[in-house]
Amino acid sequence: MRIASLGSGSRGNATLIQHGATTLLVDNGFSLRQFTRRLQALELSPSDIDAVLLTHEHGDHAGGVERLCAAHGLPLWTAVGTARAALSNGFEYHRLLAGEAVVFGDIEVLPITVPHDAREPLQFVFRELEQDRRLGILTDTGHITSHIVDRFSGLHGLLLEFNYDARMLEIGPYPDALKQRVGGNLGHLCNDQSLELLERVDTSRLNCLIAAHISEKNNAPDVVAEAIAGLVDVPDPILATQDSGFGWIRI
Ligand SMILES: [Zn+2]
Ligand SMILES: [Zn+2]
Repeated sequence: MRIASLGSGSRGNATLIQHGATTLLVDNGFSLRQFTRRLQALELSPSDIDAVLLTHEHGDHAGGVERLCAAHGLPLWTAVGTARAALSNGFEYHRLLAGEAVVFGDIEVLPITVPHDAREPLQFVFRELEQDRRLGILTDTGHITSHIVDRFSGLHGLLLEFNYDARMLEIGPYPDALKQRVGGNLGHLCNDQSLELLERVDTSRLNCLIAAHISEKNNAPDVVAEAIAGLVDVPDPILATQDSGFGWIRI
């Protein structure tokens, strides 16, 4: 299985998962033109995508999804609550339910409920059908629940939000209401919360860690890298960027 990102952060997210003959897209917060241009850098075109999965309705994830699916006839999968909040009335989609795995060609997808200030937010664990290797993606999550620890344990690959540094958010430029939203129980994971997850899950099989959705205002790549370097038994992270995400990484 391999993973790539077209961009990661509050100005737009789009992540690709590929295994065998199957290519899945998670979210698209970019305009159709931006998306297509970024996809070309991976030598893919929209018609190579087998299905689009939408995590939740926030613009940095959902902003370009409907347009992309309509323009290229791509099937969209999301939760009912997300569809109601993100899609035009009557726009067709397939329903995802937390805890119910769905098989797309060579990849099985397990949707997982997370605490975030959206209607029915989901994150995902992907599994290679015949080899049992698993890759999780976890961003836009307000705090670590025991359910999340359960589901994200024993993975081979993990893309994990390191949204903000608590001190940088506190003294940073955001207005108070936004600081409270980001830092609240239904906001985003700060560096310490993501480290907490890495300490609570089984990381014995983890060979690839990607730090993602890193705030450009309330965090810094070197702060994230330094925090992770303090952990034992966790590989050096790849840092996803807003402008170019990251190229294909094999799990
Ligand atoms: Zn987001
Ligand atoms: Zn969000």
